[in-house]
Amino acid sequence: MEPIRTSSSVPAVAASRRSAKRTRKPGGAARGSSRPRSSTLAGGDGGRRCQPCTACCDGWLRIEIAGIAVFPGSPCPHSTGNGCDDYIHRPRSCVRFECGWRMQGSPLPGWMKPNQSGVIVLFAKRRWMGRPVDVAVPVGPRIPPRALAWLKAFAEQHQRPLLYTEQSLSDGRCDASQQVLAHGPPAFREQVAAWQARGEPLW
Ligand code: SF4
Ligand code: SF4
Repeated sequence: MEPIRTSSSVPAVAASRRSAKRTRKPGGAARGSSRPRSSTLAGGDGGRRCQPCTACCDGWLRIEIAGIAVFPGSPCPHSTGNGCDDYIHRPRSCVRFECGWRMQGSPLPGWMKPNQSGVIVLFAKRRWMGRPVDVAVPVGPRIPPRALAWLKAFAEQHQRPLLYTEQSLSDGRCDASQQVLAHGPPAFREQVAAWQARGEPLW
């Protein structure tokens, strides 16, 4: 199942990522405290801790925080590099964010932790033909081959179409745009192309 490559100008990973962060990065130590704390992701966690991962606050997920665009190269203004400087008052989108690696019952193996695998997975971000569609966003310009191969195999085994992104680069650096690729049956890829042509958000 070859992916199709479609253009996308920063589809907001709407109510995604941030929930993980807090007075420090999820799993990191709260500001002013050296004691590690676990993040509080909506949907619970399976005993997994974020620390030292901070991927969902670092700009890889394109979101908007308090009216400020967050994208690759432009982390959330509340991100300290170790966590969130205002975790208690983080936006609702952060509270509701469900990291695929941390979610209760996550099928992702341990090595797929975002800071290790290079990918943030968002499960069931939309549906197509009654099937959940998963989304994968690289922590970096591209999803590393091992992680992408795992995700494609998972998509095929469980009949869950996959959308994944690649960052566009300018002079070797991420810019404000990205490409969205689709992995799944031909009909799914055709549907994704149609959504793109109509300018519809993909998730
Ligand atoms: S406000 Fe920013 S740093 Fe804090 S949890 Fe949300 S995205 Fe992360
Ligand atoms: S991407 Fe997942 S594991 Fe990493 S900090 Fe965010 S919620 Fe935690």
